[in-house]
Amino acid sequence: MEKLIYEKSRKGRTSTILPQSGVPEKQLSDFLPAKFIRKVPAALPEVSELENMRHFVRLSHLNHCIESGFYPLGSCTMKYNPKVNDAMAALEGFRELHPYQPEDQIQGALELIWELQEKIAAIVGLPSVTLQPAAGAHGEMTGLLIIKAYFEAQGDHKRTKVIVPDTAHGTNPATAALAGFEVVEIKSNVRGLVDIDALKAVLGPDTAAIMLTNPNTLGLFEEEILTVQKLVHEAGGLLYYDGANLNAIMGLVRPGDMGFDVCHLNLHKTFSTPHGGGGPGGCAVAVRQKLEPFLPKPTVRREENRFTLDWNRPQSIGKVKGFYGNFGILVRAYTYIMAHGRDGLCQVSRDAILSANYLKERLKRNFVVAYGQPCMHEFVLSGSRQKERGVATTNIAKRMLDYGVHAPTVYFPLVVPEAMMIEPTETESKETLDEFVEIMLAIDEETKTKPEFVRAAPHTTPVGRLDEALAARKPNLRWEPTPKD
Ligand SMILES: *Cc1c(COP(=O)(O)O)cnc(C)c1O
Repeated sequence: MEKLIYEKSRKGRTSTILPQSGVPEKQLSDFLPAKFIRKVPAALPEVSELENMRHFVRLSHLNHCIESGFYPLGSCTMKYNPKVNDAMAALEGFRELHPYQPEDQIQGALELIWELQEKIAAIVGLPSVTLQPAAGAHGEMTGLLIIKAYFEAQGDHKRTKVIVPDTAHGTNPATAALAGFEVVEIKSNVRGLVDIDALKAVLGPDTAAIMLTNPNTLGLFEEEILTVQKLVHEAGGLLYYDGANLNAIMGLVRPGDMGFDVCHLNLHKTFSTPHGGGGPGGCAVAVRQKLEPFLPKPTVRREENRFTLDWNRPQSIGKVKGFYGNFGILVRAYTYIMAHGRDGLCQVSRDAILSANYLKERLKRNFVVAYGQPCMHEFVLSGSRQKERGVATTNIAKRMLDYGVHAPTVYFPLVVPEAMMIEPTETESKETLDEFVEIMLAIDEETKTKPEFVRAAPHTTPVGRLDEALAARKPNLRWEPTPKD
């Protein structure tokens, strides 16, 4: 049936650019110079609906996703996203809303935003929350602009520096620079934690803030966090918590209690809203009371039994996103929190920590563990021993694809040579973790017996090693008909 329609349209209108547009030919040539008008039909592939469907289903099977296999990508928290989240976001009362509807008609949506703000505030221990930013890095930007606006409102214009440890996620220094601060990097100590002396050496009247992840990207809890907060606050600076991934501490410890003043959370990591593929994501930024006036506007407020958008915020940094953020993502995060409840969220963290420590213990005989103390929700291995056998971490990562698991985050954090950063999350079964251990041990064995084979991996994927530099410099974004077409 579909084929017939295509053929008819091609035969009937050989010289139009848009065969089915309904625009008469002579009008098209009125608008377009003759040299741009086709003399022969475009060589579009002609396929039936079924063939078309098979093509896209086949392509979708080439994707590795959490629904198809293990995905231990450190720091990214590739946990299972419960489908009930999507079902709730698809409820007609949410789905059919229009952002220009008057407040009276969107009370349910505003209530959900307000309640989610309250729940996030309780989870992080900071009272005021915005849900506008669309991603973690966007939340960092929001947070640093708030810090900047705060110091400017104090008349304190000397605070130009933001301190980041050498284990920080790359977005931290990038955001600080983009927000107009000077980035000051401090080295970690031998245990992978903030070096207190190095911190003391850089603190001063020009310190605006320190950006920390705790547990840090090595999966280690900053044991001296209260000393850090005391020193930074005494110097007049603020503490920014990168809570992109809260999987180790949710329900167990609160950034607010550790002394942080601003904190962002990726809803698309810990709170199980979809991620990967470029969005839409979601982010909450929570701040201490004194920073509340600077939150983006509008904020959602509760007035007795009514919810309202507060635009009258003279000190606000302004809007950071169209309308109120990615609302569908907020519905998903809210559903996740409600479905788990308080105890469930604590259990998530405990199970995430247990899974990571289990893997670390089982792998430590064959791979160098970067830091030996118990880890939180993730840990970092070094492939240095395998490197000595001529097999680099990148080769091990490629070989994992042959075994059907996604590679961990590699070559990050930068302080660990040949790093592999593994985050199993709480949603994987012990059987899956054991299978992963077997795969890692098998690859380790291969690095001894057939290193050249591992170096040439992957062997089973539809494409092998891509020239990423060339692809970035000369992207080929056009579909070209092959002679067969
Ligand atoms: C993922 C991540 C970010 C950035 O979040 P995006 O949503 O990708 O912008 C920042 N910090 C840490 C520690 C992260 O894991």
